[in-house]
Amino acid sequence: MPFSVESANIIGSNDGRHWIDSHCHFDFDNFDSDRESHWGLLQKFGCTGLIIPGVRAETWDHLIALCEGKPWGYGLGLHPYFLDQHQEGDLQRLENTCREQMPKIKNMSKQASNLIAIGEFGLDLMLAESGHKQQAELCRQQFLIAEKLNLPVILHIRKAYDEVAAMIRRLGFSQGGIVHAFSGSYQQGMALVSLGFKLGIGGAMSHPRAKKLRGTIARLPLASLVLETDAPDMKPAFWQGPDNSPLSLLILAQIVASLHSCHLDEVLLLSNNNVLTAMPNVKRIISRH
Ligand SMILES: [Zn+2]
Repeated sequence: MPFSVESANIIGSNDGRHWIDSHCHFDFDNFDSDRESHWGLLQKFGCTGLIIPGVRAETWDHLIALCEGKPWGYGLGLHPYFLDQHQEGDLQRLENTCREQMPKIKNMSKQASNLIAIGEFGLDLMLAESGHKQQAELCRQQFLIAEKLNLPVILHIRKAYDEVAAMIRRLGFSQGGIVHAFSGSYQQGMALVSLGFKLGIGGAMSHPRAKKLRGTIARLPLASLVLETDAPDMKPAFWQGPDNSPLSLLILAQIVASLHSCHLDEVLLLSNNNVLTAMPNVKRIISRH
């Protein structure tokens, strides 16, 4: 296990605390050796649900199966990191797979579907310039599918907040969603909020050099923020061990609480509510448990 119960104890007791990690990759093989016991520990500390975005078509079936019977909502998407692995026909497969899952979303039985969103996808202008055009087209197509299916989206955006906001306006995309690992300016954040999005806040703000981001988070209304870890990636500055865990969310919540001069529980409560607003199917998935 990448952390110990002792290290988790610094967070204090879990007095009726409930929280959701709005973005983690709990399907990645980093968790294969101890996923069940890891999940048990998360629950012990009040975790009631996870949102796990899909990043490549090849991994969708595994992700769908993994979430079955668990309060884990998943997204299906084509992430810009894997541009050269996406195949012709993946977009069609995305639409078809979601259409298959959708009638099962309202099902309350064991066969229920945990599909909650399209994503993660987006625009990453820090990646090689040669792929930017192709990235933008892939991003646009996934917005169109999400709009057609009335599903919210999970967005990965780096150095492209204005470009994606412009794309959302141009397409008239109206389903909203979550902008994961938000690191833009206050103005860019509020522009996305006005387009129906919540902003994912995680480990990036914990690094000593992230002064500007902490200043931005302190100004953004709590009603616009959702907490996330991106585990096993985006290890916060305080995290020991090889991989990040959704458990780091409690410490991240404490950082947001100090930036907003409020109590940790207020941050957790608002983050939960904001997740349910952005991804309404999460409520159904959690209430099954
Ligand atoms: Zn991610």
